[in-house]
Amino acid sequence: MADAQARDEVVRFTSDLIRIDTTNRGGGDCRERPAAEYAAALLAETGLEPTLLERTPGRTNVVARIEGSDPSAEALLVHGHLDVVPAEAADWSVHPFSGEIRDGVVWGRGAVDMKNMDAMILAVVRAWAREGVRPRRDVVVAFTADEEASAEDGSGFLADEHPHLFEGCTEGVGESGAFTFHDGGGREIYPIAAGERGTGWLKLTARGRAGHGSKVNRENAVTRLSAAITRIGEHEWPLRLTPTVRAALTELAALYGLEARLDDVDALLDKLGPAARLVEATVRNSANPTMLEAGYKINVIPGEAVAYVDGRYLPGGEDEFRATLDELTGPDVDWEFQHHTVALQAPLDSPTYARMRAAVEEFAPGGHVVPYCMSGGTDAKQFSRLGITGYGFAPLRLPEGLDYQALFHGVDERVPVEALHFGVDVLDRFLRTA
Ligand SMILES: [Zn+2]
Repeated sequence: MADAQARDEVVRFTSDLIRIDTTNRGGGDCRERPAAEYAAALLAETGLEPTLLERTPGRTNVVARIEGSDPSAEALLVHGHLDVVPAEAADWSVHPFSGEIRDGVVWGRGAVDMKNMDAMILAVVRAWAREGVRPRRDVVVAFTADEEASAEDGSGFLADEHPHLFEGCTEGVGESGAFTFHDGGGREIYPIAAGERGTGWLKLTARGRAGHGSKVNRENAVTRLSAAITRIGEHEWPLRLTPTVRAALTELAALYGLEARLDDVDALLDKLGPAARLVEATVRNSANPTMLEAGYKINVIPGEAVAYVDGRYLPGGEDEFRATLDELTGPDVDWEFQHHTVALQAPLDSPTYARMRAAVEEFAPGGHVVPYCMSGGTDAKQFSRLGITGYGFAPLRLPEGLDYQALFHGVDERVPVEALHFGVDVLDRFLRTA
């Protein structure tokens, strides 16, 4: 169990990091440097030599390596991002960048996404320095910029330009996993991420014949576009079970005493109740139309119409996704990726997964660990280019009524002090035994 100082520090670091406004508005509008310097100074106090790296001035990443006791062991990456999504102060009960600690809860943007994890990593590394703990494997710690936008100034830049810093890393743990999911029936479920869907943000362009709005026009770009996006939006994507989702369904079915009927997943999801939320977005690919652009005057038929679609594909599902989009858009509408990332799949039979599970079960007795696949993505996608298998593991024990998924990017984002203490305990135990 982490010592009293680590417990104090994780709370203080979370609050301090929240107070350092690292809002990422996209388009390069963000400055992580003060948060990076804050983290680097805390690491340097332990005798480590953190490296600060920037592709763009102000967009700072921090990487440090803790040498393990077994030089033949593969290294482990532990990463957290420093930037946060914007917050509109008027909507909040407390100022989103106050880092206020009230009634045992730390408030502010980044409290769960993911300055909490950054603070846990820092608190654990510092506790090890005090106690003279050396992990078995080298542990590479990375705090990244730009996760909430393109990652081009963050993990993408690190993977492209500084791969040597991650030498020997075969596995990584980072964002989103091992938080408490309350099923409403008194059970605590701890989903550990062992996969991510890939992101395919699409731009659709329909071309047609421009002309007067009062004339006959069978080549109307708006009509063509709307037909295509209707087909896309209404498409029933076939069920595709990846290894992680298959395991998640099997384990959840067992937890509820249900027969794991994987040949009728929709019926099984119905029976799982609220726990179905952990898997329902990852049993198939998806494509949701989100933006439309066309025309400039009501009596003028434009020659072109554009739509944007948020597409996501499962591990192994990208080829099918592409072929389906070709079919759904048809001959009059072109589509292209505006943003494209890979899907990830991590093994569940690895010693690392077993150790994450054991660490959670030790500190959350009665909790049920299940694997899950993230419907979206994290920095793990970028690090995967270095051959690093990514898991989502940022442990938090949350009380009932505090919905982790709703706090993510939400108003009144906050984290209980006790949840941070649990996180430090679990992360410390896992990293020591990893
Ligand atoms: Zn995040």
